[in-house]
Amino acid sequence: MVKENKKNNKKYFACEECNFAYESKDWAQKCENWCREHHSCNVEITKHAVQI
Ligand SMILES: [Zn+2]
Repeated sequence: MVKENKKNNKKYFACEECNFAYESKDWAQKCENWCREHHSCNVEITKHAVQI
């Protein structure tokens, strides 16, 4: 399950597998699906990650 985090009144969604955070739940879910299946990160997905 994608984790919902709040920081500075902004919502973030974090991939439970790799802990990358995203502003959009869609990307977090995509990341988590990928991580779970491939046990690695996809740069096409993680480039959408945000620093929190
Ligand atoms: Zn991930």
